[in-house]
Order: sequence, then C-alpha cells, then structure tokens
Amino acid sequence: MGNIAADDRDPDCIFCKIVAEEIPSDRVYEDDQVIAFRDLHPKAPLHVLVVPRRHRRDVRELAEQPELLARTASVASKVASDLGDGDFRLIFNTGASAGQTVFHVHAHVLAGGSLAEEEM
Ligand code: 5GP
Ligand code: ZN
Repeated sequence: MGNIAADDRDPDCIFCKIVAEEIPSDRVYEDDQVIAFRDLHPKAPLHVLVVPRRHRRDVRELAEQPELLARTASVASKVASDLGDGDFRLIFNTGASAGQTVFHVHAHVLAGGSLAEEEM
C-alpha cells in the first residue's frame, strides 16, 4: 500500500482521495489492490462499492487488466458473503448516459431486500 504510481492516481478524483484515506469512508474490506466501502446513499440494504486502488476510468479500462477485474469481482463476492447471505447484484455504470457519476471505476454490490423482484 501507499506505493501507487503517480499515473495511477488522478489528483482531482474523489475515489483516489478515498483510497488514500484523505476522505473518510466506511471501509468493509481492503487489500493491496482493491478497497470496498459503503455507498454514501445506499440503494439496497447492503450497498458497497468495490474500487481498485489504481485510477482507471471505467470497466472498459479495467478490463485491460483481467487479473484486477477478476479481483474486483471476487472481492464483491466476498463482501456479499461476509455481510449478507452471499447473493448479490454487481453493477458497473459505464459512461454518463448509463448513470456513471464518479469516473474512477467501481463495482456496485447490491444485496438484501427484494432485489429479485425489482426491475433493473
Ligand atoms: P455511479 O453513479 O458513478 O455509478 O456511482 C457513484 C456512487 O458513489 C453513488 O452511488 C454515490 O452515492 C457514491 N458516492 C459518491 N461520493 C461518495 C463518497 O464521497 N463516499 C461514498 N461512500 N460514496 C460516494
Ligand atoms: Zn481515481
């Protein structure tokens, strides 16, 4: 930790600041590659964001590093098991017109309640 290269960080990015602990968050998981914290405005009983430490704009860019994408997915699964019953919905909003508002890739882990009956 702490040795993220300069080109892996965007000085204006809110999630880079959360990764660097310059902005507080309710962390539920961290390792050397990925952190996970609770969404400020939860849209499900369990709503966690899984965020690679390196600044990547979206899942298209993250997919250029398949191991990091796989780590992100497996951390999502671990969080859903540790904090819920193991079932979850995984969402990457990609692009403004798809609802992306923070341009540092993050996987939304949504779980609990009646997700099965909801529309996407
Ligand atoms: P997006 O719309 O980009 O897919 O998702 C961004 C998410 O980040 C939103 O669900 C929003 O509530 C969450 N968010 C934005 N700023 C913060 C913050 O400073 N802290 C936390 N914990 N979540 C944030
Ligand atoms: Zn960032």
